[in-house]
Amino acid sequence: MSNLTKQTVLSIYHWTDTLFSFTCMRDPGFRFNSGQFTMVGLDINEKPLLRAYSLASANYETNLEFLSIKVPDGPLTSRLQNLRVGDLVYIGKKTTGTLVVDNLLPGKTLWLLSTGTGLAPFMSIIKDPDIYNRYEKIILTHTCRFADELAYQKYITVHLPNHEYIGELIRNQLIYFPTVTREPFKNRGRITDLIKTGELFERLSLPSFSVDNDRIMLCGSPRMLCDTRKLLNDIGFIEYGNSASGHYVVEKAFLG
Ligand SMILES: Cc1cc2nc3c(=O)[nH]c(=O)nc-3n(C[C@H](O)[C@H](O)[C@H](O)COP(=O)(O)OP(=O)(O)OC[C@H]3O[C@@H](n4cnc5c(N)ncnc54)[C@H](O)[C@@H]3O)c2cc1C
Repeated sequence: MSNLTKQTVLSIYHWTDTLFSFTCMRDPGFRFNSGQFTMVGLDINEKPLLRAYSLASANYETNLEFLSIKVPDGPLTSRLQNLRVGDLVYIGKKTTGTLVVDNLLPGKTLWLLSTGTGLAPFMSIIKDPDIYNRYEKIILTHTCRFADELAYQKYITVHLPNHEYIGELIRNQLIYFPTVTREPFKNRGRITDLIKTGELFERLSLPSFSVDNDRIMLCGSPRMLCDTRKLLNDIGFIEYGNSASGHYVVEKAFLG
């Protein structure tokens, strides 16, 4: 039996020349936990060409949503970026991934640190009401080179706070902190630099990371993951591994 289903594309949105998102139908049997990924693909030369994709939709939503890079010569995304409404995409039946809250030890504040398309799994997580029961505050940071790459910015700041069911949780418990590295913006710089200098905590009026209170999820570029890991290990945070819960978890949004 195939481990793939074919789903109809329902909408496509191009954020920039290098970034787009799309929604597709959801197989009634498709289940996932917030933060997980599955395989997405197209028929290329009559064979499925698949890549890992984080689910950006909430686990209770009717349709599936994905946020995608456009790699100019990328075997999949050079084609995937030309999707049209009504096209069929392959969606894996299985989901997996380390960015799930069950992999973290209990804590008070959950930090979701992302760069680029590493935002995708956190879009799923911030729409999950269970997260707001587990943590007092959730802080989502998203770092991109340019401001127009801050996908879902308006959705997070305008739509979600007014959401019929989770709006109140979002208003009371979610803090969104977008930063840009290559042009003027209200928050500037790499997230690792903002952590090191303490500017991140000052700007948010929050205490700096403590092993007792803070739990962290990382998703983004290899450099961000490497620098943040070092920074966290140096202050005594333990990464999730070998099925043992940790103070932080990491998912590679792409292999650089
Ligand atoms: C667990 C996991 C989850 C992922 N989730 C997503 C997701 O939600 N959205 C997404 O766009 N990609 C995601 N990826 C990357 C994705 O699997 C593909 O690599 C990407 O779609 C490009 O596919 P491609 O065939 O066009 O090029 P590939 O041959 O796969 O990649 C070519 C090169 O492009 C660069 N690249 C690949 N993906 C990215 C990216 N996302 N951002 C910046 N540079 C990149 C890398 O340098 C890579 O070597 C994920 C990867 C993993 C391992």
